[in-house]
Amino acid sequence: MSNEIPVIGVLALQGAVQPHKAHIEAAGAEFRAVKTLAQCEEVDGFILPGGESTTQLKLINRFEMWDGLAEQFAKKPVWGICAGSILLAEKVTNPEQKSFGILPVTIQRNGYGRQIDSHYAVIEGYNVSFIRAPIITGVYGDAEIIAEHDGTPVWVKKGSKMATTFHPELTMDTPSPMHQRFVDLVSERA
Ligand code: GLN
Repeated sequence: MSNEIPVIGVLALQGAVQPHKAHIEAAGAEFRAVKTLAQCEEVDGFILPGGESTTQLKLINRFEMWDGLAEQFAKKPVWGICAGSILLAEKVTNPEQKSFGILPVTIQRNGYGRQIDSHYAVIEGYNVSFIRAPIITGVYGDAEIIAEHDGTPVWVKKGSKMATTFHPELTMDTPSPMHQRFVDLVSERA
């Protein structure tokens, strides 16, 4: 990408895509909603947005994007948010489902149960939303835990891959520290 600003592709098959735009731009990068493998090849890093991981999986399979995405994710920074973090995990429980397995964590879908399945919290001084969020129940190898909430990891990172089980993009105070960290990560490598 040379002297241009990094381009962050938000996978736009399903879920909360557009709210990332203001954060990405405020963090000094270009936002692009990506729907095809050709578009994926043009970006410097990916955000897998929150939404419904089962629906996202179905669409990835229907559009025959699995292998192409796996190839892209292996070579560029990726940040999975909520459903996106489920897609990145090495192992998914409640129930088990297919995932790209690029972050050495075990993640339990809908881990907070029904009563408190959606709530706000402050992570690293920033207001975020947990929306039918998963819980990271295991972190392995050299993955680092950046933040915890209620005694469980909610923001983890390994090299250029990271995951948050919460949504920072719905808070309109831009950029969120998580977007800034991700854009910095992409800028370093681009
Ligand atoms: N409960 C959803 C799932 O299991 C994730 C919710 C979200 O992304 N906010 O895929």
